[in-house]
Amino acid sequence: MTQQEQTDDRTAFERPADPFKALGNGTRLEILRALYERGRQSPTGGGSLSYSELRDAVGIEDKGNFNYHLRQLDGRFVDRAPNGGEDDGNGYRLTFAGFEIAKVIDVDAWRSHESLGPIALEAGADGTETADTDTGTGEKPLTATYEDSVVEIRRDDVSLYAHAVRPAGAVDRGMELDALLDVVSTLWRHTIDRILRGICPYCHATVERSFADEDAGYWTHSFTATCPECGSLGGSHVGAVALTHPAVVSLFWEHDIDVTERRFWTVPFVDDEAVTVVDETPRRLRLDVELEGERLECFVDDTVRIVETHRVDADG
Ligand SMILES: [Zn+2]
Repeated sequence: MTQQEQTDDRTAFERPADPFKALGNGTRLEILRALYERGRQSPTGGGSLSYSELRDAVGIEDKGNFNYHLRQLDGRFVDRAPNGGEDDGNGYRLTFAGFEIAKVIDVDAWRSHESLGPIALEAGADGTETADTDTGTGEKPLTATYEDSVVEIRRDDVSLYAHAVRPAGAVDRGMELDALLDVVSTLWRHTIDRILRGICPYCHATVERSFADEDAGYWTHSFTATCPECGSLGGSHVGAVALTHPAVVSLFWEHDIDVTERRFWTVPFVDDEAVTVVDETPRRLRLDVELEGERLECFVDDTVRIVETHRVDADG
């Protein structure tokens, strides 16, 4: 197959048959678990087990039965290590897909956790948060909860931001919602950065972004992202495009602020007030990032990326 045919024809890569079916059996999950445990105990993380070690670890006497289940995993979730056990030829190890499944089951699935919150969040003048419920603006305060492995930030019962934090990470931080807010702020920023660079955070396929309808959600100026494999990835306010842009990061840095460490819901430009529509067709927006008398104008095109920036004196 030529390079051209490969890039033109996505269907050349056939989706495998139902992957859930291969895993729907206790023996097969035990095989994954045994190889995963071996990897966890190996200093390099790349441990393999010989055929007989694997069969002992799974505890199946019936060789034919064991071989049958191993074959169902072989090539997709399990493969042969290059230098496996001596007694049975090559040993077995997890493929990347097998590792991911075992990791998720180990880290997450069995762990039920308590819900946390809601707690009130509101940005003070210095960007720190207080638990005040009266913001003086007539708006209800932002609130945060942690439920079913998701940190969610709401205003007026409308969900503005939501991102998973794995229960293992939450337990490790003592199930403290305040600590989880720092974790989720970083994770969310990285997720947005991947989406802006066209990479699906789940499957790494190419993401397409577009402006959302003005009446589609809480904000007037928001965007959505779609992955050809995973479908809708949700979206956010268009101000999120500026969070990791070098011109914005530099402006804050010159004022001794690391904006990448700010909890993103306290950043003032993630708000409709910062947005002006410059052109309708194709749609082009200006996002004003203001800081201590300086203004950075960021122009956002209809692919929802910043394509141009200008620094101006905020008073002029
Ligand atoms: Zn995807």
